[in-house]
Amino acid sequence: MKSKSILTKFLIVLAPIYLVLVLAGSFIAAQVLIRDSTDLLTSRVGSLAARVSLALDIHEAYSYDTLARDLLAPLGVDQAVVCVEFRTADGSNIIAAHPPTLGCKGQQHAPFESVIPVDDYDQYNLYLKFTDESITAAVNKQILMTAAVLVFAFLVTLVSAAIGFRTIVSARLLALHEAIRLAASNIDRQRVQSSGYDELAEIIKAYNTLMDQDAVRERQLTAANEILSKQSKQDHLTGLYNRRFFSAMVKDNTSASINTDRCGAMLLMDIDHFKQINDNYGHAAGDEVLVELAGRIKNCLPEETPIVRWGGEEILVYLNELEHNEANTFASMLLNVVGARPVKTKAGDIHVTTSIGLVRLPFTCENQPLSPEEAVNLADVALYKAKSSGRNRTVAIAEQSIDSQSRALIENDFEKALSDGVVHIETLSGPESAAENQRIVTTLMAATTKAA
Ligand code: GH3
Ligand code: MG
Ligand code: MG
Repeated sequence: MKSKSILTKFLIVLAPIYLVLVLAGSFIAAQVLIRDSTDLLTSRVGSLAARVSLALDIHEAYSYDTLARDLLAPLGVDQAVVCVEFRTADGSNIIAAHPPTLGCKGQQHAPFESVIPVDDYDQYNLYLKFTDESITAAVNKQILMTAAVLVFAFLVTLVSAAIGFRTIVSARLLALHEAIRLAASNIDRQRVQSSGYDELAEIIKAYNTLMDQDAVRERQLTAANEILSKQSKQDHLTGLYNRRFFSAMVKDNTSASINTDRCGAMLLMDIDHFKQINDNYGHAAGDEVLVELAGRIKNCLPEETPIVRWGGEEILVYLNELEHNEANTFASMLLNVVGARPVKTKAGDIHVTTSIGLVRLPFTCENQPLSPEEAVNLADVALYKAKSSGRNRTVAIAEQSIDSQSRALIENDFEKALSDGVVHIETLSGPESAAENQRIVTTLMAATTKAA
């Protein structure tokens, strides 16, 4: 549909109102004022003409004084200017007039006397101009009332114009302005309701399109941000959390996710002989192993457990809110999920085992709980002991409270700390078959490589 301009709409609304008002005003003026006044004049002139013709019919000289006395007095008219025309017998030509300014300009002037000459003229026309007070008052009233009607019409038009403009333009402009204000201050991005096909509707439509595009862009941005945020805290190969995420969690004091004051455990896992897996089956197969093991570990632990890819093939598990000795149960479970069955890869089935260093939390040194990073360091020492003791096992530090001197010895010379009885360990073995399988495969592979 073709657009209508605001002005056109405005006129469509206002024109009928204005027209009705003008017609009504004119009607009232004509009915009440003009016709009444005209009736009054007509009646007076009519009666005056009758008297004049009566007077003139008798062909008598008639003085103006007599005329005034005889004709004006009975009408109640104070003053009148009288003009008498003298016409030819057939009435077509004016021959003379008294006074000459009324109706007979250019004609022969009859002598202006106080007596109307009665001659052999056949026809006389008499004109009177009244200056009667009552007629003046009637005319003034007419002027006043006409003015009042026009003022009223003007006011109504003004109010209608204001209401019309508010409905058609202002209200919609205000709605648009409010929407723009909210969008500009980032409070809300809302569409503006608009109907019709005028310029303002086009502007509102353009604004709505802009808001729609903005909403789409915002959704895309939010989605992209979510992906980025996920990527920034996730390891892209295994889907586990990365170390950056761990550091952020540690820093975030409001999050209770890594809280070493609570009853829990820090487990540091390292795949055994992973280099050989890479060497024997290829790096891609090594990747497959990592992905598979990450999935197995995730599935056997409670949801929300922070599992972090700590290094190449090192995985950190932080268990929290544990019951007494539950840490050992989880450690055995982890040894099993890794080693109990081989990992199927494109390069073949690969037997894998893992070693785990375990520290129970809370772990205090001089009555101060260890920080998450310090707890991981201690778990690393235990992991090293698990490796040196033959792999495919968990070494758990039995103590949960030590002094700083013991801690220094544990971190610098774990074997001495053990032999001095400063620290005690518990060892949990992984599945026997896995260890054996891995040993056989490794030996066979090594032999094959050598022969080649
Ligand atoms: P150990 O039992 O003592 O742990 O022996 P190891 O062979 O596992 O020794 P180490 O932990 O030092 O070796 C880790 C290897 O893991 C070295 C590196 O080539 C490999 N690696 C690290 N990241 C990746 C990865 O993303 N993919 C693959 N395929 N290999 C990786
Ligand atoms: Mg390693
Ligand atoms: Mg390793």
